[in-house]
Amino acid sequence: MHQLTLAEIARGLADKKFSSEELTKALLARITQLDPQLNSFISLTEDLALQQAKAADARRANGENGALLGAPIAHKDLFCTQGIRTSCGSKMLDNFKAPYDATVVAKLAAAGAVTLGKTNMDEFAMGSANESSYYGAVKNPWNLEHVPGGSSGGSAAAVAARLLPAATGTDTGGSIRQPAALTNLTGLKPTYGRVSRWGMIAYASSLDQGGPLARTAEDCAILLQGMAGFDPQDSTSIDEPVPDYSASLNGSLQGLRIGVPKEYFGAGLDPRIADLIHNSVKALEKLGAVVKEISLPNMQHAIPAYYVIAPAEASSNLSRFDGVRFGYRCEDPKNLIDLYKRSRGEGFGPEVQRRIMVGAYALSAGYYDAYYLKAQKIRRLIKNDFMAAFNEVDIILGPTTPNPAWKLGAKNSDPVAAYLEDVYTITANLAGLPGLSMPAGFVDGLPVGVQLLAPYFQEGRLLNVAHQYQLNTDWHTRTPTGF
Ligand code: GLN
Repeated sequence: MHQLTLAEIARGLADKKFSSEELTKALLARITQLDPQLNSFISLTEDLALQQAKAADARRANGENGALLGAPIAHKDLFCTQGIRTSCGSKMLDNFKAPYDATVVAKLAAAGAVTLGKTNMDEFAMGSANESSYYGAVKNPWNLEHVPGGSSGGSAAAVAARLLPAATGTDTGGSIRQPAALTNLTGLKPTYGRVSRWGMIAYASSLDQGGPLARTAEDCAILLQGMAGFDPQDSTSIDEPVPDYSASLNGSLQGLRIGVPKEYFGAGLDPRIADLIHNSVKALEKLGAVVKEISLPNMQHAIPAYYVIAPAEASSNLSRFDGVRFGYRCEDPKNLIDLYKRSRGEGFGPEVQRRIMVGAYALSAGYYDAYYLKAQKIRRLIKNDFMAAFNEVDIILGPTTPNPAWKLGAKNSDPVAAYLEDVYTITANLAGLPGLSMPAGFVDGLPVGVQLLAPYFQEGRLLNVAHQYQLNTDWHTRTPTGF
Protein backbone atom coordinates (compact mmCIF):
# COMPACT_ATOMS: atom_id res chain seq x y z
CA MET A 1 0.00 0.00 0.00
CA HIS A 2 2.91 2.35 0.69
CA GLN A 3 3.77 2.53 -3.03
CA LEU A 4 0.44 4.16 -3.90
CA THR A 5 0.33 7.74 -5.09
CA LEU A 6 -2.33 10.19 -3.92
CA ALA A 7 -4.20 9.67 -7.20
CA GLU A 8 -4.12 5.88 -6.74
CA ILE A 9 -5.18 6.20 -3.11
CA ALA A 10 -8.18 8.31 -4.14
CA ARG A 11 -9.23 5.63 -6.63
CA GLY A 12 -8.63 2.81 -4.13
CA LEU A 13 -10.71 4.56 -1.48
CA ALA A 14 -13.50 5.34 -3.97
CA ASP A 15 -13.52 1.70 -5.13
CA LYS A 16 -13.52 0.49 -1.50
CA LYS A 17 -10.34 -1.53 -2.05
CA PHE A 18 -9.21 -0.34 1.39
CA SER A 19 -10.33 2.17 3.98
CA SER A 20 -8.51 5.28 5.08
CA GLU A 21 -8.22 3.73 8.53
CA GLU A 22 -6.45 0.64 7.13
CA LEU A 23 -4.13 2.76 5.03
CA THR A 24 -3.38 5.12 7.92
CA LYS A 25 -2.54 2.24 10.27
CA ALA A 26 -0.29 0.62 7.66
CA LEU A 27 1.63 3.84 7.04
CA LEU A 28 1.96 4.67 10.74
CA ALA A 29 3.44 1.18 11.28
CA ARG A 30 5.81 1.73 8.37
CA ILE A 31 6.93 5.09 9.77
CA THR A 32 7.56 3.54 13.21
CA GLN A 33 9.58 0.77 11.60
CA LEU A 34 11.65 2.73 9.09
CA ASP A 35 11.90 6.33 10.24
CA PRO A 36 14.61 5.70 12.84
CA GLN A 37 16.96 5.37 9.84
CA LEU A 38 15.89 8.72 8.39
CA ASN A 39 14.75 10.96 11.28
CA SER A 40 12.20 12.57 8.98
CA PHE A 41 9.49 13.10 11.61
CA ILE A 42 9.61 15.35 14.68
CA SER A 43 6.16 14.29 15.92
CA LEU A 44 3.77 11.53 14.99
CA THR A 45 0.10 12.37 15.46
CA GLU A 46 -1.37 8.85 15.65
CA ASP A 47 -4.53 9.70 17.60
CA LEU A 48 -5.42 12.63 15.37
CA ALA A 49 -4.65 10.55 12.26
CA LEU A 50 -6.91 7.66 13.27
CA GLN A 51 -9.69 10.04 14.21
CA GLN A 52 -9.40 11.88 10.87
CA ALA A 53 -9.20 8.59 8.95
CA LYS A 54 -12.37 7.26 10.57
CA ALA A 55 -14.15 10.55 9.90
CA ALA A 56 -13.04 10.41 6.24
CA ASP A 57 -14.30 6.83 5.91
CA ALA A 58 -17.63 7.91 7.37
CA ARG A 59 -17.85 10.82 4.90
CA ARG A 60 -17.12 8.43 2.00
CA ALA A 61 -19.76 6.01 3.32
CA ASN A 62 -22.19 8.93 3.13
CA GLY A 63 -21.46 9.32 -0.56
CA GLU A 64 -18.89 12.09 -0.36
CA ASN A 65 -15.91 11.95 -2.67
CA GLY A 66 -12.78 14.03 -3.12
CA ALA A 67 -9.19 13.45 -4.07
CA LEU A 68 -7.92 14.22 -0.56
CA LEU A 69 -10.73 12.59 1.42
CA GLY A 70 -8.90 10.01 3.56
CA ALA A 71 -5.46 10.69 2.04
CA PRO A 72 -2.53 10.50 4.49
CA ILE A 73 -0.16 13.46 4.51
CA ALA A 74 2.23 15.20 6.91
CA HIS A 75 3.04 18.84 7.56
CA LYS A 76 6.41 20.50 7.77
CA ASP A 77 6.78 21.42 11.42
CA LEU A 78 6.39 25.15 10.83
CA PHE A 79 2.69 24.92 9.98
CA CYS A 80 0.80 25.64 13.18
CA THR A 81 -1.28 22.67 14.33
CA GLN A 82 -3.72 23.32 17.14
CA GLY A 83 -2.77 21.60 20.39
CA ILE A 84 0.18 19.87 18.70
CA ARG A 85 3.84 20.76 19.05
CA THR A 86 4.92 23.13 16.28
CA SER A 87 8.68 23.34 16.78
CA CYS A 88 10.02 24.90 13.57
CA GLY A 89 12.97 22.55 14.11
CA SER A 90 14.13 24.70 17.02
CA LYS A 91 14.81 24.28 20.71
CA MET A 92 13.16 27.71 20.96
CA LEU A 93 9.77 26.16 20.13
CA ASP A 94 10.33 22.63 21.42
CA ASN A 95 7.60 23.20 24.02
CA PHE A 96 5.29 25.25 21.78
CA LYS A 97 1.84 23.87 21.07
CA ALA A 98 0.10 26.09 18.55
CA PRO A 99 -3.19 27.56 19.73
CA TYR A 100 -4.70 27.37 16.21
CA ASP A 101 -4.34 25.63 12.85
CA ALA A 102 -2.55 27.32 9.95
CA THR A 103 -4.88 28.02 7.04
CA VAL A 104 -3.12 25.32 5.00
CA VAL A 105 -3.61 22.80 7.80
CA ALA A 106 -7.28 23.74 8.24
CA LYS A 107 -8.00 23.64 4.50
CA LEU A 108 -6.40 20.23 4.03
CA ALA A 109 -8.17 18.86 7.10
CA ALA A 110 -11.49 20.16 5.77
CA ALA A 111 -10.79 18.40 2.45
CA GLY A 112 -10.44 15.19 4.48
CA ALA A 113 -6.65 14.74 4.47
CA VAL A 114 -5.26 12.72 7.36
CA THR A 115 -2.30 14.20 9.24
CA LEU A 116 0.20 11.48 10.18
CA GLY A 117 2.65 13.86 11.81
CA LYS A 118 4.96 16.84 11.64
CA THR A 119 8.16 16.56 9.64
CA ASN A 120 11.70 17.52 10.48
CA MET A 121 13.20 20.67 9.00
CA ASP A 122 16.14 23.02 9.21
CA GLU A 123 15.80 25.30 12.21
CA PHE A 124 13.38 28.11 11.26
CA ALA A 125 13.68 26.87 7.64
CA MET A 126 17.24 28.17 7.35
CA GLY A 127 19.36 25.75 5.42
CA SER A 128 19.60 23.47 2.43
CA ALA A 129 20.73 20.23 4.06
CA ASN A 130 18.37 19.69 6.98
CA GLU A 131 21.34 19.54 9.31
CA SER A 132 20.48 22.61 11.40
CA SER A 133 17.46 21.01 13.09
CA TYR A 134 17.42 20.85 16.89
CA TYR A 135 16.07 17.31 16.40
CA GLY A 136 19.10 16.14 14.44
CA ALA A 137 19.92 15.75 10.77
CA VAL A 138 17.60 14.00 8.31
CA LYS A 139 19.15 11.29 6.10
CA ASN A 140 18.60 10.89 2.39
CA PRO A 141 16.85 7.54 1.67
CA TRP A 142 18.89 7.22 -1.56
CA ASN A 143 22.08 7.11 0.51
CA LEU A 144 21.89 7.40 4.27
CA GLU A 145 25.29 9.10 4.41
CA HIS A 146 24.00 12.02 2.34
CA VAL A 147 21.76 14.98 3.12
CA PRO A 148 18.19 15.06 1.77
CA GLY A 149 18.34 18.80 1.06
CA GLY A 150 16.49 21.38 3.08
CA SER A 151 14.84 23.05 4.65
CA SER A 152 11.83 20.76 3.95
CA GLY A 153 14.15 17.75 4.23
CA GLY A 154 11.91 15.75 6.55
CA SER A 155 8.93 16.00 4.21
CA ALA A 156 11.14 15.07 1.25
CA ALA A 157 12.88 12.11 2.89
CA ALA A 158 9.58 10.71 4.20
CA VAL A 159 7.83 10.90 0.82
CA ALA A 160 10.87 9.59 -1.08
CA ALA A 161 11.09 6.61 1.31
CA ARG A 162 7.41 5.83 0.71
CA LEU A 163 6.50 6.49 4.32
CA LEU A 164 3.57 8.47 2.94
CA PRO A 165 2.46 9.73 -0.49
CA ALA A 166 2.83 13.49 -0.06
CA ALA A 167 3.63 16.24 2.41
CA THR A 168 3.60 20.00 2.72
CA GLY A 169 6.75 22.09 2.56
CA THR A 170 7.71 25.74 2.35
CA ASP A 171 10.09 27.45 -0.01
CA THR A 172 11.83 30.73 0.85
CA GLY A 173 14.85 30.23 -1.38
CA GLY A 174 14.36 26.71 -2.69
CA SER A 175 13.28 24.61 0.28
CA ILE A 176 10.63 22.68 -1.65
CA ARG A 177 12.38 22.37 -5.01
CA GLN A 178 15.88 21.63 -3.73
CA PRO A 179 15.00 18.72 -1.39
CA ALA A 180 12.63 17.43 -4.10
CA ALA A 181 15.57 17.38 -6.51
CA LEU A 182 17.89 15.67 -4.05
CA THR A 183 15.40 12.90 -3.18
CA ASN A 184 13.79 12.24 -6.61
CA LEU A 185 10.47 13.96 -5.91
CA THR A 186 8.28 16.49 -7.63
CA GLY A 187 7.91 19.69 -5.63
CA LEU A 188 6.18 22.94 -6.42
CA LYS A 189 6.68 26.42 -5.05
CA PRO A 190 3.57 28.39 -5.97
CA THR A 191 3.37 32.06 -6.94
CA TYR A 192 3.90 34.29 -3.91
CA GLY A 193 0.42 34.90 -2.51
CA ARG A 194 -1.17 31.76 -3.97
CA VAL A 195 -1.02 29.75 -0.71
CA SER A 196 -1.85 31.40 2.59
CA ARG A 197 1.03 32.07 4.96
CA TRP A 198 -1.31 32.46 7.94
CA GLY A 199 -0.08 30.14 10.67
CA MET A 200 3.11 29.36 8.80
CA ILE A 201 5.91 30.44 11.14
CA ALA A 202 7.71 33.21 9.29
CA TYR A 203 11.30 33.08 8.12
CA ALA A 204 11.42 35.81 5.43
CA SER A 205 7.88 37.01 4.88
CA SER A 206 8.32 38.47 1.39
CA LEU A 207 9.79 35.18 0.11
CA ASP A 208 8.07 32.37 2.08
CA GLN A 209 5.53 30.25 0.25
CA GLY A 210 3.98 26.89 1.11
CA GLY A 211 3.56 24.13 -1.44
CA PRO A 212 3.36 20.39 -2.11
CA LEU A 213 6.02 17.67 -2.21
CA ALA A 214 4.98 14.40 -3.82
CA ARG A 215 6.28 11.76 -6.19
CA THR A 216 4.38 12.94 -9.26
CA ALA A 217 3.09 16.15 -10.81
CA GLU A 218 -0.38 14.59 -10.74
CA ASP A 219 -0.13 14.34 -6.93
CA CYS A 220 1.28 17.87 -6.59
CA ALA A 221 -1.83 19.06 -8.45
CA ILE A 222 -4.06 17.28 -5.95
CA LEU A 223 -2.25 18.61 -2.89
CA LEU A 224 -1.90 22.14 -4.25
CA GLN A 225 -5.65 22.18 -4.96
CA GLY A 226 -6.22 21.66 -1.25
CA MET A 227 -3.69 24.32 -0.19
CA ALA A 228 -4.26 27.22 -2.60
CA GLY A 229 -6.72 30.06 -2.36
CA PHE A 230 -7.36 33.53 -1.05
CA ASP A 231 -7.15 34.02 2.69
CA PRO A 232 -8.28 37.32 4.21
CA GLN A 233 -6.11 36.52 7.27
CA ASP A 234 -2.94 36.86 5.16
CA SER A 235 -2.47 40.41 3.86
CA THR A 236 -0.24 39.16 1.03
CA SER A 237 -2.68 36.49 -0.11
CA ILE A 238 -3.95 37.21 -3.61
CA ASP A 239 -7.63 37.10 -4.48
CA GLU A 240 -7.39 35.13 -7.73
CA PRO A 241 -9.65 32.18 -8.51
CA VAL A 242 -7.95 28.79 -8.11
CA PRO A 243 -8.07 26.81 -11.35
CA ASP A 244 -8.65 23.04 -11.46
CA TYR A 245 -5.01 21.91 -11.43
CA SER A 246 -5.78 18.26 -12.20
CA ALA A 247 -7.71 19.36 -15.27
CA SER A 248 -4.64 21.23 -16.53
CA LEU A 249 -2.40 18.13 -16.63
CA ASN A 250 -3.33 16.85 -20.05
CA GLY A 251 -2.71 19.85 -22.29
CA SER A 252 -0.55 19.23 -25.36
CA LEU A 253 3.01 20.57 -25.32
CA GLN A 254 2.93 21.18 -29.07
CA GLY A 255 4.50 24.58 -29.68
CA LEU A 256 5.34 25.20 -26.02
CA ARG A 257 8.22 27.67 -25.96
CA ILE A 258 10.91 26.64 -23.47
CA GLY A 259 13.68 29.07 -22.57
CA VAL A 260 16.97 27.71 -21.31
CA PRO A 261 19.00 30.45 -19.59
CA LYS A 262 22.64 30.36 -20.58
CA GLU A 263 23.64 31.61 -17.11
CA TYR A 264 22.34 28.35 -15.62
CA PHE A 265 25.10 26.34 -17.28
CA GLY A 266 28.14 28.24 -16.09
CA ALA A 267 30.97 27.18 -13.82
CA GLY A 268 29.84 25.45 -10.67
CA LEU A 269 27.33 23.16 -12.39
CA ASP A 270 28.27 19.47 -12.23
CA PRO A 271 28.67 18.56 -15.95
CA ARG A 272 26.85 15.27 -15.37
CA ILE A 273 23.85 17.26 -14.19
CA ALA A 274 24.12 19.49 -17.27
CA ASP A 275 23.92 16.34 -19.45
CA LEU A 276 20.79 15.13 -17.68
CA ILE A 277 19.16 18.54 -18.05
CA HIS A 278 19.89 18.49 -21.77
CA ASN A 279 18.29 15.04 -21.95
CA SER A 280 15.13 16.36 -20.35
CA VAL A 281 15.09 19.21 -22.86
CA LYS A 282 15.26 16.62 -25.65
CA ALA A 283 12.43 14.64 -24.08
CA LEU A 284 10.25 17.76 -24.06
CA GLU A 285 11.23 18.60 -27.65
CA LYS A 286 9.97 15.17 -28.66
CA LEU A 287 6.62 16.15 -27.16
CA GLY A 288 6.46 19.20 -29.41
CA ALA A 289 8.18 21.88 -27.34
CA VAL A 290 10.37 24.45 -29.04
CA VAL A 291 13.58 25.31 -27.22
CA LYS A 292 15.52 28.54 -27.29
CA GLU A 293 18.43 29.95 -25.35
CA ILE A 294 17.62 32.97 -23.21
CA SER A 295 19.55 35.20 -20.82
CA LEU A 296 18.88 36.23 -17.22
CA PRO A 297 21.79 38.66 -16.90
CA ASN A 298 21.31 39.59 -13.25
CA MET A 299 21.29 36.03 -11.94
CA GLN A 300 24.83 36.40 -10.64
CA HIS A 301 23.59 38.95 -8.09
CA ALA A 302 20.82 36.75 -6.73
CA ILE A 303 22.71 35.00 -3.92
CA PRO A 304 24.17 38.17 -2.40
CA ALA A 305 20.78 39.92 -2.62
CA TYR A 306 18.91 36.96 -1.13
CA TYR A 307 21.40 36.55 1.70
CA VAL A 308 20.80 40.17 2.68
CA ILE A 309 17.00 40.25 2.29
CA ALA A 310 16.21 36.87 3.87
CA PRO A 311 18.34 37.43 7.01
CA ALA A 312 17.05 41.02 7.30
CA GLU A 313 13.46 39.82 7.35
CA ALA A 314 14.39 36.91 9.61
CA SER A 315 16.07 39.17 12.15
CA SER A 316 12.87 41.17 12.34
CA ASN A 317 10.50 38.15 12.38
CA LEU A 318 12.50 36.29 15.00
CA SER A 319 12.58 39.21 17.42
CA ARG A 320 9.26 37.93 18.79
CA PHE A 321 11.06 34.96 20.35
CA ASP A 322 12.19 36.74 23.48
CA GLY A 323 11.66 34.24 26.28
CA VAL A 324 8.52 36.08 27.34
CA ARG A 325 5.79 35.29 24.87
CA PHE A 326 6.72 32.09 23.04
CA GLY A 327 8.67 28.95 23.68
CA TYR A 328 11.96 28.60 25.48
CA ARG A 329 12.85 30.64 28.56
CA CYS A 330 16.24 30.40 30.26
CA GLU A 331 16.57 29.26 33.89
CA ASP A 332 16.74 31.88 36.65
CA PRO A 333 17.04 35.09 34.63
CA LYS A 334 18.76 37.80 36.65
CA ASN A 335 16.97 40.68 34.96
CA LEU A 336 15.09 41.42 31.74
CA ILE A 337 18.20 41.80 29.57
CA ASP A 338 19.62 38.55 30.92
CA LEU A 339 16.28 36.87 30.14
CA TYR A 340 16.37 38.06 26.53
CA LYS A 341 20.03 37.29 26.01
CA ARG A 342 20.13 33.83 27.46
CA SER A 343 16.71 32.73 26.19
CA ARG A 344 17.74 33.65 22.65
CA GLY A 345 21.34 32.52 23.04
CA GLU A 346 20.29 29.12 24.36
CA GLY A 347 17.10 28.70 22.30
CA PHE A 348 18.47 29.46 18.81
CA GLY A 349 21.09 27.32 17.08
CA PRO A 350 24.22 28.71 15.38
CA GLU A 351 22.82 29.11 11.85
CA VAL A 352 19.79 31.05 13.12
CA GLN A 353 22.02 33.27 15.26
CA ARG A 354 24.29 33.90 12.29
CA ARG A 355 21.34 35.03 10.16
CA ILE A 356 19.91 37.24 12.89
CA MET A 357 23.27 38.99 13.22
CA VAL A 358 23.69 39.46 9.47
CA GLY A 359 20.12 40.72 9.18
CA ALA A 360 20.35 43.12 12.09
CA TYR A 361 23.59 44.50 10.67
CA ALA A 362 22.13 44.96 7.19
CA LEU A 363 19.14 46.82 8.60
CA SER A 364 21.06 49.04 10.98
CA ALA A 365 21.22 52.80 10.50
CA GLY A 366 24.09 53.75 8.23
CA TYR A 367 24.18 50.34 6.49
CA TYR A 368 20.55 50.10 5.38
CA ASP A 369 21.09 51.90 2.08
CA ALA A 370 24.29 50.06 1.29
CA TYR A 371 22.87 46.57 1.87
CA TYR A 372 19.13 46.22 2.25
CA LEU A 373 18.09 48.91 -0.20
CA LYS A 374 20.69 47.78 -2.72
CA ALA A 375 19.48 44.19 -2.42
CA GLN A 376 15.90 45.32 -3.05
CA LYS A 377 17.05 47.09 -6.21
CA ILE A 378 18.75 43.91 -7.41
CA ARG A 379 15.53 42.09 -6.67
CA ARG A 380 13.69 44.36 -9.06
CA LEU A 381 16.33 43.82 -11.77
CA ILE A 382 15.94 40.06 -11.38
CA LYS A 383 12.19 40.36 -11.72
CA ASN A 384 12.62 42.51 -14.82
CA ASP A 385 14.89 39.85 -16.37
CA PHE A 386 12.14 37.27 -15.89
CA MET A 387 9.44 39.56 -17.27
CA ALA A 388 11.53 40.14 -20.39
CA ALA A 389 12.18 36.41 -20.75
CA PHE A 390 8.51 35.52 -20.41
CA ASN A 391 7.72 37.84 -23.34
CA GLU A 392 9.55 35.30 -25.47
CA VAL A 393 8.97 31.93 -23.80
CA ASP A 394 6.25 30.09 -21.87
CA ILE A 395 8.49 28.17 -19.48
CA ILE A 396 12.07 28.51 -18.26
CA LEU A 397 13.99 25.29 -17.76
CA GLY A 398 17.29 24.56 -16.02
CA PRO A 399 18.89 22.52 -13.26
CA THR A 400 17.38 22.75 -9.77
CA THR A 401 20.74 22.41 -8.03
CA PRO A 402 24.36 22.62 -9.17
CA ASN A 403 25.30 19.36 -7.39
CA PRO A 404 23.64 16.17 -6.20
CA ALA A 405 23.12 15.56 -2.47
CA TRP A 406 26.36 16.02 -0.54
CA LYS A 407 27.63 13.98 2.38
CA LEU A 408 26.30 14.78 5.83
CA GLY A 409 28.60 17.31 7.45
CA ALA A 410 30.51 18.10 4.24
CA LYS A 411 29.53 21.78 4.18
CA ASN A 412 29.12 22.39 7.90
CA SER A 413 32.30 24.37 8.35
CA ASP A 414 31.55 26.60 5.36
CA PRO A 415 28.05 28.12 5.38
CA VAL A 416 28.71 30.02 2.15
CA ALA A 417 29.33 26.72 0.30
CA ALA A 418 25.81 25.67 1.29
CA TYR A 419 24.38 29.08 0.29
CA LEU A 420 25.82 28.59 -3.21
CA GLU A 421 23.68 25.47 -3.67
CA ASP A 422 20.65 27.81 -3.84
CA VAL A 423 21.90 29.58 -6.96
CA TYR A 424 19.17 28.30 -9.31
CA THR A 425 16.23 28.37 -6.94
CA ILE A 426 16.32 31.71 -5.11
CA THR A 427 15.59 33.90 -8.13
CA ALA A 428 12.02 32.57 -8.29
CA ASN A 429 11.48 33.62 -4.66
CA LEU A 430 13.00 37.05 -5.23
CA ALA A 431 10.64 37.54 -8.19
CA GLY A 432 7.67 35.76 -6.57
CA LEU A 433 7.33 33.33 -9.49
CA PRO A 434 6.11 29.72 -9.36
CA GLY A 435 8.69 26.96 -9.82
CA LEU A 436 8.68 23.18 -9.93
CA SER A 437 11.40 20.56 -9.64
CA MET A 438 10.98 17.08 -11.08
CA PRO A 439 13.21 13.99 -11.36
CA ALA A 440 15.62 14.03 -14.32
CA GLY A 441 17.99 11.11 -13.66
CA PHE A 442 20.81 10.03 -11.37
CA VAL A 443 24.46 10.80 -10.76
CA ASP A 444 26.39 8.24 -8.69
CA GLY A 445 23.07 6.76 -7.57
CA LEU A 446 21.85 10.14 -6.32
CA PRO A 447 18.81 11.89 -7.83
CA VAL A 448 18.99 15.01 -10.00
CA GLY A 449 16.16 17.50 -10.52
CA VAL A 450 15.19 19.67 -13.45
CA GLN A 451 13.54 22.98 -12.62
CA LEU A 452 10.71 24.65 -14.50
CA LEU A 453 9.68 28.27 -13.90
CA ALA A 454 6.53 29.93 -15.22
CA PRO A 455 4.85 33.36 -15.17
CA TYR A 456 2.73 34.37 -12.18
CA PHE A 457 -0.19 32.05 -11.42
CA GLN A 458 0.80 29.55 -14.11
CA GLU A 459 1.13 26.64 -11.68
CA GLY A 460 -1.18 24.71 -14.01
CA ARG A 461 1.30 25.12 -16.87
CA LEU A 462 4.16 23.81 -14.71
CA LEU A 463 2.10 20.80 -13.66
CA ASN A 464 1.02 20.19 -17.24
CA VAL A 465 4.60 20.13 -18.54
CA ALA A 466 5.78 17.97 -15.64
CA HIS A 467 2.92 15.50 -16.02
CA GLN A 468 3.49 15.10 -19.77
CA TYR A 469 7.20 14.61 -19.10
CA GLN A 470 6.42 12.00 -16.46
CA LEU A 471 4.09 10.12 -18.83
CA ASN A 472 7.13 9.74 -21.09
CA THR A 473 9.96 9.14 -18.58
CA ASP A 474 10.25 6.87 -15.58
CA TRP A 475 12.78 8.63 -13.32
CA HIS A 476 10.03 9.60 -10.89
CA THR A 477 9.01 5.95 -10.41
CA ARG A 478 12.43 4.84 -9.11
CA THR A 479 12.43 3.75 -5.48
CA PRO A 480 15.40 3.96 -3.10
CA THR A 481 16.76 0.54 -2.10
CA GLY A 482 15.61 -0.54 1.34
CA PHE A 483 12.41 1.48 1.15
N1 GLN B 1 18.66 27.46 1.62
C1 GLN B 1 17.95 28.69 1.69
C2 GLN B 1 18.20 29.35 3.03
O1 GLN B 1 18.85 28.77 3.81
C3 GLN B 1 16.49 28.50 1.46
C4 GLN B 1 15.74 27.99 2.62
C5 GLN B 1 14.27 27.96 2.39
O2 GLN B 1 13.81 28.01 1.25
N2 GLN B 1 13.52 27.93 3.48
O3 GLN B 1 17.77 30.43 3.28
